[in-house]
Amino acid sequence: MSASKDPRPYIDTHFHLDLYSSPEQTARQIEDKKVYTISVTNTPSVFKHTEALTRELKYVRPALGLHPELAAERTSELDLMLDLLPRTRYVGEIGLDYASSSQENQRIQRQVFEKILDKCSAEGGKVLTIHSRKAAQDVVSMLRGFHGTPILHWYSGSKETLEQALSNGCYFSANPAMARTKKFEKLLSWIPKERLLTETDGPFVEVSGEPAEPKDTSLVVKQISRVWGVSARVGREKIFSNFKRLLQETQEKNHA
Ligand code: MN
Repeated sequence: MSASKDPRPYIDTHFHLDLYSSPEQTARQIEDKKVYTISVTNTPSVFKHTEALTRELKYVRPALGLHPELAAERTSELDLMLDLLPRTRYVGEIGLDYASSSQENQRIQRQVFEKILDKCSAEGGKVLTIHSRKAAQDVVSMLRGFHGTPILHWYSGSKETLEQALSNGCYFSANPAMARTKKFEKLLSWIPKERLLTETDGPFVEVSGEPAEPKDTSLVVKQISRVWGVSARVGREKIFSNFKRLLQETQEKNHA
């Protein structure tokens, strides 16, 4: 009702807290700024550290991951990944990356990704943040019939594949690096407003020469709102309500 009501929190669905020089300090800053943050990990062997670090926090959640660029050399960690899965609702960073890998490496990536998806589907109620560089088509076809909620992080595939992803229930998360590109407007025209989220992918994405932090999702919201033709406040509310609905839907699927 009142215009002075606090705006809804910003949302960062893909952030690498464990790659910052002082994760404890960065986590405290996120809590101060009240940004809901999914803190992804690149190998299951480091998950417990992030899990412990975020246990007492309100805004930061740990995600269990096995990054596609590490999947082939860390197949030995796949069992640990599957063992740890029941401990968390959030899974990432996972997916496929065909940018600079051999056919054999890509085959192993698909095996690893499939095993993770199968276990997530069997457990139900998981929120996945997924990498798909130069591999969007395979990622999306592997998500057909998936039981849970996939978020495609930093999507750069075709419109046709994006439409398949939508029919497979995918959400999309956009970051400051994407928001700076010319094709961002076109990408937003493909994604229904209800399926869009924000992320930073910090520290891989930088803002003004510094590793991005979850508060920098405000820059993405600003661009999205401009493209949508709404105020930044309305854009922020919309992204928040998308995330809230995603969590509700995922929970409902879990109890279905
Ligand atoms: Mn990442």
